[in-house]
Amino acid sequence: MNVNQSAPPVPPFGQPQPVYPGYHQSSYGGQPGSTAPPTPYGAYNGPVPGYQQTPPPGVSRAPPSSEAPPASTAQAPCGQAAYGQFGQGDVQNGPSSTVQMQRFPGSQPFGSVPLAPVVSQPAVLQPYGPPPTSAQVTAQLAGMQISGAVAPTLPPVGLGYGPPTSLGSASGSFPNSGLYGSYPQGQAPPLSQAQGHLGAQPPQRSAPPQASSFTSPASGGPRMPSMTGPLLPGQSFGGPSVSQPNHVSSPPPQTLPPGTQMTGPPGPPPPMHSSQQPGYQLQQNGSFGPARGPQPNYGSPYPGAPTFGSQPGPPQPLPPKRLDPDAIPSPIQVIEDDRNNRGSEPFVTGVRGQVPPLVTTNFLVKDQGNASPRYIRCTSYNIPCTSDMAKQAQVPLAAVIKPLARLPPEEASPYVVDHGESGPLRCNRCKAYMCPFMQFVEGGRRFQCCFCSCINDVPPQYFQHLDHTGKRVDAYDRPELSLGSYEFLATVDYCKNNKFPSPPAFIFMIDVSYNAIRSGLVRLLCEELKSLLDFLPREGGAEESAIRVGFVTYNKVLHFYNVKSSLAQPQMMVVSDVADMFVPLLDGFLVNVSESRAVITSLLDQIPEMFADTRETETVFAPVIQAGMEALKAAECAGKLFLFHTSLPIAEAPGKLKNRDDRKLINTDKEKTLFQPQTGAYQTLAKECVAQGCCVDLFLFPNQYVDVATLSVVPQLTGGSVYKYACFQVENDQERFLSDLRRDVQKLVGFDAVMRVRTSTGIRAVDFFGAFYMSNTTDVELAGLDGDKTVTVEFKHDDRLNEESGALLQCALLYTSCAGQRRLRIHNLALNCCTQLADLYRNCETDTLINYMAKFAYRGVLNSPVKTVRDTLITQCAQILACYRKNCASPSSAGQLILPECMKLLPVYLNCVLKSDVLQPGAEVTTDDRAYVRQLVTSMDVAETNVFFYPRLLPLTKSPIESATEPPAVRASEERLSNGDIYLLENGLNLFLWVGASVQQGVVQSLFSVSSFSQITSGLSVLPVLDNPLSKKVRGLIDSLRAQRSRYMKLIVVKQEDKLEMLFKHFLVEDKSLSGGASYVDFLCHMHKEIRQLLS
Ligand SMILES: [Zn+2]
Repeated sequence: MNVNQSAPPVPPFGQPQPVYPGYHQSSYGGQPGSTAPPTPYGAYNGPVPGYQQTPPPGVSRAPPSSEAPPASTAQAPCGQAAYGQFGQGDVQNGPSSTVQMQRFPGSQPFGSVPLAPVVSQPAVLQPYGPPPTSAQVTAQLAGMQISGAVAPTLPPVGLGYGPPTSLGSASGSFPNSGLYGSYPQGQAPPLSQAQGHLGAQPPQRSAPPQASSFTSPASGGPRMPSMTGPLLPGQSFGGPSVSQPNHVSSPPPQTLPPGTQMTGPPGPPPPMHSSQQPGYQLQQNGSFGPARGPQPNYGSPYPGAPTFGSQPGPPQPLPPKRLDPDAIPSPIQVIEDDRNNRGSEPFVTGVRGQVPPLVTTNFLVKDQGNASPRYIRCTSYNIPCTSDMAKQAQVPLAAVIKPLARLPPEEASPYVVDHGESGPLRCNRCKAYMCPFMQFVEGGRRFQCCFCSCINDVPPQYFQHLDHTGKRVDAYDRPELSLGSYEFLATVDYCKNNKFPSPPAFIFMIDVSYNAIRSGLVRLLCEELKSLLDFLPREGGAEESAIRVGFVTYNKVLHFYNVKSSLAQPQMMVVSDVADMFVPLLDGFLVNVSESRAVITSLLDQIPEMFADTRETETVFAPVIQAGMEALKAAECAGKLFLFHTSLPIAEAPGKLKNRDDRKLINTDKEKTLFQPQTGAYQTLAKECVAQGCCVDLFLFPNQYVDVATLSVVPQLTGGSVYKYACFQVENDQERFLSDLRRDVQKLVGFDAVMRVRTSTGIRAVDFFGAFYMSNTTDVELAGLDGDKTVTVEFKHDDRLNEESGALLQCALLYTSCAGQRRLRIHNLALNCCTQLADLYRNCETDTLINYMAKFAYRGVLNSPVKTVRDTLITQCAQILACYRKNCASPSSAGQLILPECMKLLPVYLNCVLKSDVLQPGAEVTTDDRAYVRQLVTSMDVAETNVFFYPRLLPLTKSPIESATEPPAVRASEERLSNGDIYLLENGLNLFLWVGASVQQGVVQSLFSVSSFSQITSGLSVLPVLDNPLSKKVRGLIDSLRAQRSRYMKLIVVKQEDKLEMLFKHFLVEDKSLSGGASYVDFLCHMHKEIRQLLS
């Protein structure tokens, strides 16, 4: 049962170190005592993360012990380390653990629920920044400014940021939005921890009374006593002296007693003199702001405090102020600029270390020797030469790899290279595949490996002369010598059991319990399959798919169907011994669709009738997967199971689960258990599936808690997908479900895959994120891999890198195509290396960084309290930016926030991750929603995480109706909404149409065919098809947005001031969130403070 089919003579992925251990040697990790590897970016040169866990019981079938633990049990279920690689202590990473350990109390509000006091500071920047007359926040090239205006959105004193009191009742009544479709189950009220701090919602867009609106004069926040050390006690908040231009980092003096919380009683609000607010010019990268005049100190809270340094200026009252949202870096602007600057020219990959255009830019790629950014995106295209530099910068070095990415029609799929019986040419030592970076020497008779420097003989049949530059004269005739991406046909040595694989099979496994029948799911699905089976994936010009199909229905027992073409009617075989699952028939179970069409159609007609009167409500789950996997094993093929499942599997069987949902665990140390599987049985099962090349796609239709965290284990570890349709009703949800199903069934999949990432000397892959399984530290095993899934790989130094030679990555994916062909897909990428940190910061990609950081955090919640995870992210971000400030930016006042151009969106995007449902859930978000999103993000590519964390908000009536292009987006903030307009908001999973209360009657009529705003049905999910330009435009735009995403987004129409608006506002990510997430402005100020603390 070795999933890796490496043949002894030429182990395809053989490295010096690992031979694939049999599965009996390793488990999935969940066993107690399993060791978690060190943090990905904590210890450079630390030990390699171990994916090996302690041995499993050695039982291949689901063990009887799969009985769920008591729901109330405090101890982690045995599967808790399933995702392994993130030990609790490992979250405490960072270059300086002391920073982590000494979390400043002042930073806590951002990492925990009691947030309001900090984010409510209207002038968060102020207390830490220099005094108003010269306070300056400079975003590099961003013209970031501080306006003198009082924050119009600030709530009055005493009002928290909590949900309106109506939230509790509203939360249960949101329509089924898909992701947030909530159940009528008792929704927990807002977190108890939060209630102490959350109050009524601040009045929307109404300016509070100015001077009285601040709970505190932003007293500077508590600091660790040590932070005050270098400064004179009692120093006031003053900027650095003008005589100290290089003094980047004086911490504001601290007079608060240690431990003082910002949640303490507010001090007197400082008088407001907005006229004192100077305007600030746009600051170029690292440039100084205007010369600083005398700096008033912060005044009132600490009377008598001496001014900072030699500043003669008398203390002046400081007017509260906020950052002008228009002056802080705008995601919309950055996206727009990149489109304008880089969208017109193709991205040619011939140059090493080029940063590609943003994922939000449409561009064509020309492969000239490096893999397209559609296949690989990196956090930085210029890697520090030494691990010391890397540690200093704290910028994670990671690649988000999508090996089977779909390409636009204008770009060619990778060429397939056939080296005949000898197979692909590889380095003898490190087994890297022939690629454009290999150096041919000795007249072409040998080549030097670009990864390990080994000199290899060129086989006679591959020999070619070199030109005067040392290049083979046939270099441009051979994809493997001239392109970044290509495929090799694999020889039999790369096949399991030294046998070419059979074509894969699809098995449809349909829950026919009461819920599935009643909702109309079974009838809908059976009807759809009749036609969908004609569209199974095929390759090239094949007339017919090679994929065979089989059918199973189940509730507490399983029903197998014989659909052999020679039968007049399908035959059913029932297996009720679910504890010892076997497949009762081989011949006639997996069939060719066209041969057995009549029998299959008859079966699909009969299934809904057969179970129409069922009263069976209980289901099993693990035995269903077991059965599918056994069937593939018997047929000696890889394949995919499509499971359609409705409920928590409580029937007596292996993998039986209990309802252990408990919202009271949120914000406790036990919260992580909500994300962990409640039994190890599914990991054991997944391991068997991977060995068989059995990928599992799960479609869930829950009416209540189904324990997504546990049910998604097998899909997650087999490279499968999970779809969730809460409270599924045919009339409301069929379009979404059918659209997802069609796409899922039709997409090309690589089966029984193994991926290995090789690197040139000096760095190595140390950590991996995604939907896959690993039984050793280097090989990513994927029962299935489709074109939507990414594998994220983190690299660390193990030696010094060389500026001249750069660094190389080679990703090799061995897989079985849908037609049953064994292939290797190779992607190569060359990166630059630098000895100056500035080069690193100039060549970073923030979208990819965020993708990595989100995945890192989302894995972290399996083992650590979410607050710890959030704090880790904040610390890391601050360290990244502080390192830039210290080493790369021109010296300037510490009062200036200076962001590297490539990372100026890091704070806003990171804040979106921090307040996402996984890390800071709102009251309406269920445990299953969080587990679902958590596993979705794990496999997302960079474009998906970009829009998921920062949704697109498109105004619809501003641009001309005739315009064929998408309207320019606006920032995701309520301030940007005009009540006379309508907007589409999408994040890849959700789609809203927000209608302003004052929208013109003509617009209402054109879109909704009703005469007034009040007649629009809130929660509508389909727009009427009307024959007018606006209706056509909006519906066309919706279709276009859906086509861009890998999952169908169900539309929800939201009216301004309607209760549904709450749901919509959840996605206005620049604003404060109801669950306590900071606004962009507040977070930026907080980040500034953190940076200053690090610099001081
Ligand atoms: Zn080599």
